[in-house]
Amino acid sequence: MARTRTPARGTGSLPLEEVLESKELKAMHGFDVHTLDDMLRFAPRRYTVPAALRSIHEVAEGEEMAAVVTVTGLTARSMRNRRGTLLIVDVTDGDSALELVFFLAKEHQVAWHRSHLRVGERYTVYGIAGRDSRTGTPQLTHPRYEEYEDTPEGRARAERPLPVYPLKKNVAQKTMRDATERGLEFADGLQRILPDAVLRRRGLLPLADAARALHRPLTVEDTLAGRAHLVFEEAFVLQAIFAQRRAQDERTPAPALRGDGPLRPALDARLPFTLTDGQLEVGAALEERLAREHPTSVLLQGDVGSGKTVIALRAMLRAVDSGHQAALLAPTEVLAEQHHRTITGLLGDLAAAGRLDGHADATSVRLLTGSQRTAERRRTLLDVASGEAGIVIGTHALLTESVEFASLGLVVIDEQHRFGVDHRRRLRSKGPGGMSPHVVVMTATPIPRTAALAVVGDLDVLTLRESPGRRAGVTSFVVHESLPRWEQRMWARAGEEVAAGRQVFVVCPRIDEDDAAPPDPEGSEPLPPPRGVTETAARLASRPELAGARVGVLHGRLSTEEKQQVMEDVVAGRIDVLVATTVIEVGVDVPNASTMIVLDAERFGVSQLHQLRGRVGRGEAPGIAFLDTRVEQGSVSSQHLQSVAEATDGFALAELDLHRRGAGDLVGELQSGLGRTLQHLDVIRDGEVIARAREDAFPLVAADPDLTDHPVLAAAIETRLADADVERS
Ligand code: ADP
Ligand code: MG
Repeated sequence: MARTRTPARGTGSLPLEEVLESKELKAMHGFDVHTLDDMLRFAPRRYTVPAALRSIHEVAEGEEMAAVVTVTGLTARSMRNRRGTLLIVDVTDGDSALELVFFLAKEHQVAWHRSHLRVGERYTVYGIAGRDSRTGTPQLTHPRYEEYEDTPEGRARAERPLPVYPLKKNVAQKTMRDATERGLEFADGLQRILPDAVLRRRGLLPLADAARALHRPLTVEDTLAGRAHLVFEEAFVLQAIFAQRRAQDERTPAPALRGDGPLRPALDARLPFTLTDGQLEVGAALEERLAREHPTSVLLQGDVGSGKTVIALRAMLRAVDSGHQAALLAPTEVLAEQHHRTITGLLGDLAAAGRLDGHADATSVRLLTGSQRTAERRRTLLDVASGEAGIVIGTHALLTESVEFASLGLVVIDEQHRFGVDHRRRLRSKGPGGMSPHVVVMTATPIPRTAALAVVGDLDVLTLRESPGRRAGVTSFVVHESLPRWEQRMWARAGEEVAAGRQVFVVCPRIDEDDAAPPDPEGSEPLPPPRGVTETAARLASRPELAGARVGVLHGRLSTEEKQQVMEDVVAGRIDVLVATTVIEVGVDVPNASTMIVLDAERFGVSQLHQLRGRVGRGEAPGIAFLDTRVEQGSVSSQHLQSVAEATDGFALAELDLHRRGAGDLVGELQSGLGRTLQHLDVIRDGEVIARAREDAFPLVAADPDLTDHPVLAAAIETRLADADVERS
């Protein structure tokens, strides 16, 4: 688990050395917990609720029990078969007798129990009921016990939930509990990050009370109230960071990109398609931001194929039209090259400045990669520095290298999974005259709104919801083979499509069936062995529904030429049914394909299934996708497929995927270190909290940008940023 050292060392948080014994200290250091503030914010993993208090005679052997008892006597004697002492403590609940039995290796342990279990005093004892084999007397071996106070509070304390902390090797749960207990004595000295006004407004416990509720709760409600403080606190620190970054942007100059001609309109005029309403809207929202005199930071999200590239290109032309340059950064060289091809393709002679065939208003679009020859690279660098190159395309390395821009007005970052401080910090002075360029980050992994606030709360999120590429759309169904009629209907439908002159894709998880089975994706339900392309193709040949259909196969073991041949045959309509592995997942564009059948669909991930069904319904005919499975109807996998079938757009799916995989993955995939160091906050579950924390944090930072009046918050921010940096490297 990622551990955060909450409020900064050096701001007054008590070092644990001053609080704990060495054994406890070592246990806490094992979790990178060094101060009182760290320790009391280190939440239990869960709680155990003890058995209800009962009379001893009601308890059957083997049952978990808790009882209030009085000590009547202690006997210690050496053990016969091994070294050490057998300590028997006789107790009674007034009605029945009970023996507490301890096998103790060391003399000091005997002394410890003797001093803590005094004759005549009352205790609550907890354990599993046993029985002395000779006398039949009820026994508890090595029970937990504590002093009992005969008041309503005492009774509640005896039945309170007990914290269970994560453990590292050789550390006892008791050590963790003792350490925390000891720390609670100093709870009033904790560094209070949340202002009192916020606590009151949000109905949160003061920090010290929250710590006690979390670690020493009387009820389950206490544990929730305690945790609520920490969750809000974490959200608040995060939002304060975002608020500060916004405030910083407000103080930073950026070139206002307001030029309204001639390149951008010239591109619009020659686009081979009409921009969708969504593209126009997002484009306008983006241009409004680019026209500002302070750097804008936008997250442009939209499904694969939703047309983000065109929007980015229009924005980049806007920069060039305004007398500045734009850079487009891709995660890999291959993608950078692809962008370069696409963009020069769309621009045509508008990108051919300085050439005979160039348009009068043309600019120059340059690719800059590490694998270019030195001479070419040097020439490009010169053109970037002189301003000759209006648009520069490269990998993220463009930023780290000392590439000099004449006047960089806009940076577009494609598929950036770890956007955040680092890049923007680096960009800050890359603009003309020390100004900061505007930044647009594009992602095809849409993030639900509240999660976006937590993850990239300093970016404006613009979203493309439609996908112009998918014209006719796709309807999905789950087919359970356990219901033979459905399966027949599926193949019959495939046959009908073929008869109507359309094409069918059948996707299998494997090439051959005797291949070693891949591990079950869930690991929980046993899955039937995966089907292979080869065997499936053979089986289909004998299915009456597909009689006469021409069946082809495609998979990664074919040579490049064979693959090309198969795809040509498919495109030319010489193959009716193509049985394939997921090689067809990306890039296959066959407008005549109407039907996608995924066999053993439970073996595919959400985004894979979404990509696969996106292969059909691209032309005139509506697409139909069958998610075929042999898992039991109503099982977890089956329900999951059902929800994939029902979720039609990439956003619904992304959300589904997030819920299924949990926030951890989102955080891991998308994030700057900031999100990965979250301890208490779950960016999906705690959406409401995040929104409220934002409402509270932004005005506070606006009123006091340097947090002069909030030194503890300032320190917490610094610590979190420092931890995020550590985690990132
Ligand atoms: P993304 O980058 O969001 O994955 P692209 O910008 O690459 O999507 O667009 C996917 C495809 O759709 C491209 O071939 C692009 O030219 C095309 N396209 C973009 N906008 C439209 C539109 N409004 N109408 C039709 N096709 C479009
Ligand atoms: Mg793209």
